[in-house]
Amino acid sequence: MRRIAFFGGSFDPPHRGHLAIATAAADCFALNQVLFAPADRQPLKGKYPATDFLHRYTMTALAAQADPRFLPSLLDAPQRNATDDTRPNYTVETLARLRALLAAEPEPTALFTLLGADSWLDIGRWFQAPRLLALTDWIVAARPGFLLACAEAALPPEVKVERNQRSNGAANHSSSALPACDLILHHADATATRVWFLPHLKEDISATDLRAALDRGQIDRELLPAPVSDYIAKTGIYRSITQESSLR
Ligand code: ATP
Repeated sequence: MRRIAFFGGSFDPPHRGHLAIATAAADCFALNQVLFAPADRQPLKGKYPATDFLHRYTMTALAAQADPRFLPSLLDAPQRNATDDTRPNYTVETLARLRALLAAEPEPTALFTLLGADSWLDIGRWFQAPRLLALTDWIVAARPGFLLACAEAALPPEVKVERNQRSNGAANHSSSALPACDLILHHADATATRVWFLPHLKEDISATDLRAALDRGQIDRELLPAPVSDYIAKTGIYRSITQESSLR
């Protein structure tokens, strides 16, 4: 069975932290593909992303060149609707669409959603969280400053959690069998989905910090994939994040 992970985010800009967690997940779970899907508007991120979707998608496609398992995806691209132009994209709808697309293909697919611990700790606030959590299995990457120990408490009350016994760390796993998961989520419709933690990641990088540095004219090539830093240097898109992007 093919294994695919959906990896959503602002990717404003995509950085080495994103590549590190996607690589770790692809290695640990023998993923065939990681779909890097920049989101149009994220309901919980206020005004951000300030950078035009086309720039973020282009940078994500450039970053995804780092590994043949990585693919840029337009699944979470702007979905303007005639009656409500301000409606954000909701991950529950994006994942439901992805599941339907995959179900129509001849080869069966195991679908995972990959996200960082900061995003997971907020999952109870995501739109239709109980339904969302039933749609895929979940891979949660550790992130400095965010405690995986609080992962269960983040879940909405409708979801019943079972802690699974885990004999060894998922990060050491290399065969094609899945490692034992950390949590099993039981849903109202009697289905279950699984959650794995990648506890060993320590990528102390954030796009917010990178944007602040870029706004001061500093491009930190250590923290950005090379084609992304070249693109930023050529276009000057972060020269002032308070101005409208040049593609608008
Ligand atoms: P921002 O600082 O703008 O909020 P970000 O660096 O968190 O951005 P996003 O594009 O919002 O990047 O992140 C996409 C996904 O990658 C999210 O699930 C986030 O939790 C995860 N992620 C981003 N950076 C890291 C990191 N350094 N370690 C672990 N997970 C990360």
